[in-house]
Amino acid sequence: MDKITAPRGTQDIIPPGSRQWRELEAAIGDLADRFAYSEIRTPTFEATELFVRGVGETTDIVEKEMYTFEDRKGRSLTLRPEWTAGVVRAVLEHNLLNQGPLKLYYTGSIFRYERPQKGRYRQAHQFGVECLGYADAAADAEVIQLPIELLTRFGIGGLRVELNSIGDAVCRPAYRQALLDHFRPVADQLSADSQRRLERNPLRILDSKDLRDKPFIDRAPSYLDHLCADCQAHFATLRGHLDALGIRYAVNPRLVRGLDYYTRTVFEVHSDALGAQSTILGGGRYDGLVEQLGGPPTPAVGFAMGLERFLMVREELGTATESVRRGIQIIALGQAACNRLVPVLAGLRRVYPEPADMDYGDRKLGAQLKLADRNGARLAAICGDAELERGILILRDLETKEQREVTLPAGTDVGALLTTICQMAAAPAPALLQE
Ligand code: ATP
Ligand code: MG
Repeated sequence: MDKITAPRGTQDIIPPGSRQWRELEAAIGDLADRFAYSEIRTPTFEATELFVRGVGETTDIVEKEMYTFEDRKGRSLTLRPEWTAGVVRAVLEHNLLNQGPLKLYYTGSIFRYERPQKGRYRQAHQFGVECLGYADAAADAEVIQLPIELLTRFGIGGLRVELNSIGDAVCRPAYRQALLDHFRPVADQLSADSQRRLERNPLRILDSKDLRDKPFIDRAPSYLDHLCADCQAHFATLRGHLDALGIRYAVNPRLVRGLDYYTRTVFEVHSDALGAQSTILGGGRYDGLVEQLGGPPTPAVGFAMGLERFLMVREELGTATESVRRGIQIIALGQAACNRLVPVLAGLRRVYPEPADMDYGDRKLGAQLKLADRNGARLAAICGDAELERGILILRDLETKEQREVTLPAGTDVGALLTTICQMAAAPAPALLQE
């Protein structure tokens, strides 16, 4: 029979690599907590209309990347291609803006029908935040600072922060006109996508990755010359905050973003370690989105980071943590020892905060030590008929090869055993002995 494989553009996250994911997700939870962002989880699929309205009809996502299907009652549903629209939908549905400003974060999958390549998948994962209710540029600075803290915590350097402002409803029409004046005379030389978008949303052309468009994009007017006074002031304040926070950035006047809802601030963080797919994260201000989805006028700013790309950079830079031996392998030689050690294993799992495992297959010592290696165990507790008779366990440190005899615990009462384990693994005993 033909083997069934994972769908194109998806990846299994398997051990030992899954450990890096867990570590990253734990750091994300911790950092979000420090910045006072609370977690939100929304459904994996939403009404298609939400993304059409919330992401924008002329975006790559809505035009060609969505996984859309009809359910059995003929409703059009779409797998989440990005989180912001769903988060705003949930915030409005549960009236979360009633109590003032709101800070939320999420981690989880997104689905986009893209051409799979390194760093680009059909199911990918994002960490992001949405800061709702603040118009002040201090919020923009916070949303830029947070992911940079995360990258720094993992020792990831060599980052390029790009920043731009794409104005608001006051100055957008004049800039739009300037773009039309620039692109219309050369329309027939633009890519098909850009020609189609020219009249409906010329700003989108600036985000084109098509090489045919590049020379015309390079010469396009800069929004920074068209910002109204308020947008100019906002941009200047943000730059002041970033300077004060010691965050280095470059202004890129061509930077727009893939989604229609952005106003004023847009930013991206790139790493040269990534090659073609160099963007680790992107974000910006979206003051019009909440209203567009039926809510009260609400300023907002957020970012989204690709977890696969984050882990790729880590791998590329060699900052991934080396796996250290931890935990204990209980090695029972013979059925009698196995019966006696089942409660000991249970007792350890209650009080010892590292992995504790045992081979139930009644295998020889050598085979069980191999399993201990595969498990990455630091210690082995060995017991056969001779040890049973003497009422002892042999504790062996698989790293230093040191060996000690300890009294075989009665039932699940492993207090004395735990003390020796902690001494041997030179672990900070107080933290382990809390129980
Ligand atoms: P790109 O220009 O690379 O297509 P984008 O503008 O579509 O990115 P966003 O929608 O801003 O990306 O998503 C934020 C981040 O999520 C990206 O910077 C990237 O790290 C990650 N990301 C987006 N799409 C994918 C994908 N198909 N596979 C892996 N990661 C992705
Ligand atoms: Mg994209």
